[in-house]
Amino acid sequence: MTATELRHDWTLQEARELFELPFNDLLFRAQSVHRQHFDPNEVQVSTLLSIKTGACPEDCKYCPQSGHYNTGLEKEKLLEIEKVVAEAKAAKQKGASRFCMGAAWRSPSKKDMPYVLDMVKQVKSLGLETCMTLGMLKEEQAVELADAGLDYYNHNLDTSEKYYSHIITTRTYQDRLDTLDNVRKAGMKVCCGGIMGMGEDEDDRVGLLMQLANLPHHPESVPVNMLVKVKGTPMEDMEDLDPFEFIRIIAVARIMMPASHVRLSAGRENMNEQMQALCFMAGANSIFYGEKLLTTANPEADADMLLFKRLGIRPEQREQCASEEQEEEAIVEAVEYEGTRHMFYDATRESA
Ligand code: SF4
Repeated sequence: MTATELRHDWTLQEARELFELPFNDLLFRAQSVHRQHFDPNEVQVSTLLSIKTGACPEDCKYCPQSGHYNTGLEKEKLLEIEKVVAEAKAAKQKGASRFCMGAAWRSPSKKDMPYVLDMVKQVKSLGLETCMTLGMLKEEQAVELADAGLDYYNHNLDTSEKYYSHIITTRTYQDRLDTLDNVRKAGMKVCCGGIMGMGEDEDDRVGLLMQLANLPHHPESVPVNMLVKVKGTPMEDMEDLDPFEFIRIIAVARIMMPASHVRLSAGRENMNEQMQALCFMAGANSIFYGEKLLTTANPEADADMLLFKRLGIRPEQREQCASEEQEEEAIVEAVEYEGTRHMFYDATRESA
């Protein structure tokens, strides 16, 4: 099968038509596209660590880390490098191939940059791919991070341009696009997606996916988050999004950005295993693994590995040089062991 050509000229009409396909037709199409670019039984596994928590000056209405809302979140200063490296080692042993570090900043300050650069260098030296999310970046900051060895930068557009001001007022959509541009120009890979279930309509979902798919380069990773309704944020009482609508979004993202990793991200702890399996079927091929996803709970890592086992899914391995192969094999074995060690797993439970 030849791989679908990557397109950057999606029209609103085409994207809407995809959304409106009968569910089975949409899933079949997404899965067919997925198989042209990826092994359908491999899922990339990332681990996310909050390296600086809370007191963020931005006012993102969904975020418990914003200093504008009282969510009872315990604030933490920038973590010491040794702690970050210890967490990265543990993540590697548990099977993660990428280690993401997130700080609740508007943008990194001059004073914090040297620590951050050192963190990148040390985590990278463990043989992990590195990713950071630190807020807005100036051109020179992006270059410094790239030079330190940062592989990915996460910066989400969150929603459509039209709906953006309903969610955030302390920065503009254009600010976000400028940072994405700086990241690209510095030679890093882009991780960029959005959050569903924030009161947006279908056109906003289409608008976000069009914005991402029509960038000059598709983001290599596209996290698709389901809103986690955190008490104390303006979104705590938001209505639930229909799970089938969420799966449709995954499928449309897969079709519009066929070679990108589509990540099942925040909100996964509220999805039962059947829904997660349908998301994989629709083309999701990346998850966060670990006990915490920044500040919201993430399904237990062991439960993830059990689900992988039941679905015949393997964690994707990163490209490596020959000398790393043995170590990588040991990780895969450890992950498989994790997946079988619970003898009394209750397969009937609703969600992890
Ligand atoms: S999403 Fe990021 S920028 Fe927005 S309030 Fe939360 S930590 Fe700050």
